[in-house]
Amino acid sequence: MPPPLAGVIGFPIGHSKSPILHGYWLKKLGISGYYVPLSMSQADFVDALRSLPKLGFKGVNVTLPHKLSALSVADSVTDRAALIGAANTLTFRDDGSISADNTDGYGFIQNLRQNAPEWDARRGPALVLGAGGASRAIISSLLSAGVTELRLANRTRQRAEMLADQFGAKIEVIDWNRASDAMDGVLTIVNTTSLGMTGQPELPVVLDAAPSDALVTDLVYTPIITKFLAAAEVRGLKTVDGLGMLLHQGVPGFELWFGQRPEVDEGLRQAILGA
Ligand code: NAP
Repeated sequence: MPPPLAGVIGFPIGHSKSPILHGYWLKKLGISGYYVPLSMSQADFVDALRSLPKLGFKGVNVTLPHKLSALSVADSVTDRAALIGAANTLTFRDDGSISADNTDGYGFIQNLRQNAPEWDARRGPALVLGAGGASRAIISSLLSAGVTELRLANRTRQRAEMLADQFGAKIEVIDWNRASDAMDGVLTIVNTTSLGMTGQPELPVVLDAAPSDALVTDLVYTPIITKFLAAAEVRGLKTVDGLGMLLHQGVPGFELWFGQRPEVDEGLRQAILGA
């Protein structure tokens, strides 16, 4: 049997951490497989994808700009990928068909469960900052985890309203410039915007009104401790950084393609941080 292959498809692809992530697990678990970066333009995506199973690929992660095309090319789609409207994990079945999943929301929740085991979404409202692509996965996973209410603030209010229309009555749209005042009783505060990332402006949301038992998490992981997380720490709030989400979202794909469930451990974090 040839060694199993998997990879990540994007354009550009050089920045992807996924080869290091999966490479770490392959080595740790002693699996003689390979996980490779594949640079593919939008024009070539569908044809190239269809040829991968014939080359021995078990599946691929998909990143920008292919997350929407990946959903439409798939023969079957998980409920969570359909709800999020994008796929990041494709698996090639023995009969040649392609199944699509989105594991971002799973990664988000697993990261909180691992690093804040006492956190329980069902215990109160959440405040989600941002209504871009990543926000959809976060909203969907928080609703599945049982948040009682979800306040959503985005610079472009219309995008938040579109998500509220899709995700239903638990979503309350908040004006972007009122986000700092929308923290009454909030248990989970999530930055899903790109603000705070190296080279981007800082997030203009203050945590003065956050309850003392609120958990603050940021999807941005460059830097690992964003100014937003640092401000939360100063306030004595529990924080979880965004790197763990990236690590955990890789688990379901790896297990499907290589047959063993990998662990997210400190060695993996260090491997990614040192890369
Ligand atoms: P996106 O679709 O481009 O959305 C960007 C979001 O940021 C939108 O809500 C946008 O608001 C907001 N934003 C951008 N510039 C802003 C500004 N100057 N002022 C106020 N709001 C601003 O991006 P995405 O795919 O959702 O990704 C968002 C972030 O999450 C990125 O930093 C990404 O690296 C990170 N991420 C991390 C993980 C992980 O595993 N940790 C996974 C996915 C994404 P408008 O709608 O008003 O433009």
